[in-house]
Amino acid sequence: MTQEVRVRFAPSPTGHLHIGGARQALFNYLFARRHNGKFIVRIEDTDQARNIDNATDKLMESMKWLGLDWDESIENGGPYAPYRSSERFDIYAQYVEQLLEENKAYRCYMTSEELEAEREAQIARGEMPKYSGRDRDLTREQQKEYEAKGIKPVVRFRVPDPNKVPSVVIDDVIRGEVNFDTDGIGDFVIARSDGAPTYNFAVVVDDYLMKISHVIRGEEHLSNTPRQALLYDAFGWERPHFAHAPLILNEDRQKMSKREESIMQFVEQYRDYGYLPEGLVNFLALLGWSPGNEEEKFTIDELIERFSLERVSKAPAVFDKDKLAWMNNQY
Ligand code: GLU
Repeated sequence: MTQEVRVRFAPSPTGHLHIGGARQALFNYLFARRHNGKFIVRIEDTDQARNIDNATDKLMESMKWLGLDWDESIENGGPYAPYRSSERFDIYAQYVEQLLEENKAYRCYMTSEELEAEREAQIARGEMPKYSGRDRDLTREQQKEYEAKGIKPVVRFRVPDPNKVPSVVIDDVIRGEVNFDTDGIGDFVIARSDGAPTYNFAVVVDDYLMKISHVIRGEEHLSNTPRQALLYDAFGWERPHFAHAPLILNEDRQKMSKREESIMQFVEQYRDYGYLPEGLVNFLALLGWSPGNEEEKFTIDELIERFSLERVSKAPAVFDKDKLAWMNNQY
């Protein structure tokens, strides 16, 4: 690979290291080590209301226990101090301002009641709900009228005209070409009324500034990707390579739910049962990735040697407790 590989694991501190997060961290780690690149951890704590105390410490503890050490620390943060989005609000604000100045974003004064009414009307008409664009072209006078009423605006990104840009094409390393209709993407919020950035905005600014070469994450994020791609395009930044690993289904081959503790608290729970990090790592690696032969037992160094995104499948992976127990017993 000619480009310097820089990847990241960017958990939100909203819970424990769940199975999807652990696999995401592992795939990024293996990819970075395989290509002598850098593996960065960034805590995405922009949504203060959802953050849970201690979650960051617990996430980092679980990562270290698994053996997934990462590179780079924030200045003066000491070893292993990850980046934190909440410390970067000034940076996001600067980029929101840039898009506003370039008229690629605008202030929207719709109240939650108005948005809800709009949504219900669209659903009643059998349309896919999406923001109508009411405040796209307000004059400064009109904006001031809303402000005089005490309404604090959010900032929305101006999605390109579907007649000019009919689709957003993502060239995904794992999934191949994925097309999204621009028409289906409403002008989305990039900064809330209190100035805090939304996930889609912060993640793009951070990945760009941190020179992330590959965004490797779970398929549940695929639907966010066209929004992020449009932001890269609006800034004139080169997009990173996107790679979306397949969903992990539960033992009944259903989508996992947040109520399933063994899945949500995966790493801590199995550690407490006495499982070994090597067993968990081996199991996680095979959730979507395969070495291309029948081999099933690897050390972490062997995984680093063999891992490639080309061998990650599109088909969903299935969580299998017996397999995990069996694998753990191999160590
Ligand atoms: N903070 C997001 C999450 O925890 C990260 C998604 C991403 O990797 O872009 O799901």
